[in-house]
Amino acid sequence: MPGFDPDRIEIPLGHVIGGALRDAAHEWLDVRRPSDAQVYARLPEGDAALVDEAVANSDAAFRSPGWRRLAPRDRAALLRRWADLVERDAGALARLEALGSTRPIRDALAWDIPYTADVIRFFAELCDKHGGEIGATAPDHLGLMITEPYGVIGAIAPWNFPLVMACWKVAPALAAGNAVVLKPSEMTPFSVNLLALLAVEAGIPPGIFNVVQGRGPVVGEALCKHPLVAKITFTGSTRTGAAIMEICARHGTKPVTLELGGKSPQLVFDDVTDPDRTAGIIARAIAGNAGQVCVAGSRLIVAERLKARITGKIAEAFSGLKPGVTWDADTTLPPIISEPQCARIGTLVDRAAAEGGTILAGGSRLRNPQHGAYFAPTLIEPAHAGAEIVQEEVFGPVLTIQGFRTDDEAFELARHPVYGLAAGVHTRDLNRAMRALREIRAGTIWINRYGRSNDHILPTGGFGQSGIGKDLGRQAFEGNQRLKTVLMALEA
Ligand code: NAD
Repeated sequence: MPGFDPDRIEIPLGHVIGGALRDAAHEWLDVRRPSDAQVYARLPEGDAALVDEAVANSDAAFRSPGWRRLAPRDRAALLRRWADLVERDAGALARLEALGSTRPIRDALAWDIPYTADVIRFFAELCDKHGGEIGATAPDHLGLMITEPYGVIGAIAPWNFPLVMACWKVAPALAAGNAVVLKPSEMTPFSVNLLALLAVEAGIPPGIFNVVQGRGPVVGEALCKHPLVAKITFTGSTRTGAAIMEICARHGTKPVTLELGGKSPQLVFDDVTDPDRTAGIIARAIAGNAGQVCVAGSRLIVAERLKARITGKIAEAFSGLKPGVTWDADTTLPPIISEPQCARIGTLVDRAAAEGGTILAGGSRLRNPQHGAYFAPTLIEPAHAGAEIVQEEVFGPVLTIQGFRTDDEAFELARHPVYGLAAGVHTRDLNRAMRALREIRAGTIWINRYGRSNDHILPTGGFGQSGIGKDLGRQAFEGNQRLKTVLMALEA
């Protein structure tokens, strides 16, 4: 079975520039495994000079005939080959991912790696299926709207699903003909290095996908400011997204795609066919990856009549989870990414209780012999609708529960002043579902399910302060191209 020894993993240390690993720096950061808080590697910290070198290298690769002159169908073939290599090295990628992040090995093998390959293939298929348009100009002119890649795109990724989040950025950008310089999170740096090396092995020219490691305010900011970076695509917190937008506005007014935070509601109406099944969906939507999911369904809004029953079933589902290290094949409740993040979750829960909230399940961190930071899946009935625990993104396994009597009340509770990332609606009534999808401000609404499928044609992205632009879907491909207008006078 897929458990592994964490001390016997080969780690591709360093940056990937020009198709090769670069393992040197002036400064080094300790990188800890979330499962047991042990330092397992040292990260060579990039700086503005290294970003400059990586961007220049990517720019040269972008302008070289080996990439610029490639027919879209040949680009598609390279991306498909890359996806094949991701599948070939699924074991190594999954072990690296599990070692350095909160992804249990079983989930990494069953989902993260096949999903990464699948997303690359989806965008490969779009390579030669997009074109421009001809405008309806006067007959003595020809008006063309031509799509073209931006050039070098700067991608900045979070730690919660390191490979998948990077792939959402890199795959459409390359499919659309760009080069990418990626900055992964300094907490989960290494699995994307292997992804980048596999791209080179697949025949994607060296430099087309570079990785620069380091901290956000150093490497991330240098990418945003770089004059040769034509666009920034970012996934992370709303606060960092706003900072990036500001930097990009000041340095070349470059476009940004932002996938940001959320506080997503799950609405359960009293007509659901099987409340116990619905409770299972709700529990998984907050406990998966220990709640460290942008679209975690963190606010349960439930018909009063079902509240007690659903509460009991959720508590039961929570108690069935097995906390443990990510390299253990039986783990179903992974660690929290870091000690400070676990402490923050604890503080938010303690404040909710102090404010008069009722803890219905969990409520504290779990002690474990391996020193990693683990938090018990928690269900809280808040003191009031405006409570901090209902408003703040916790980014941990913490679910609030609020009862409602009328549909209007449910929609009122679902409204969030800041976020609009996703929502779940559970009802058998088609009219209710239709009304819900009009009333709820969210970029994605799931009805009688919660979470993404493998239908990558469906884009994802937030409303309000949950983001700007889309990942996945045709829209992500189009977001990586710009439109050039040509007007040609024709001789009579
Ligand atoms: P974060 O904002 O702290 O960091 C994200 C990335 O930005 C990291 O690589 C970080 O080093 C970099 N960064 C930090 N400061 C920077 C700066 N000043 N300039 C440039 N780059 C900088 O987020 P995180 O803690 O890594 O991830 C968790 C957050 O991400 C949550 O809010 C979650 O909701 C969000 N998220 C959103 C989605 C989505 O699709 N909407 C998906 C995953 C995660």
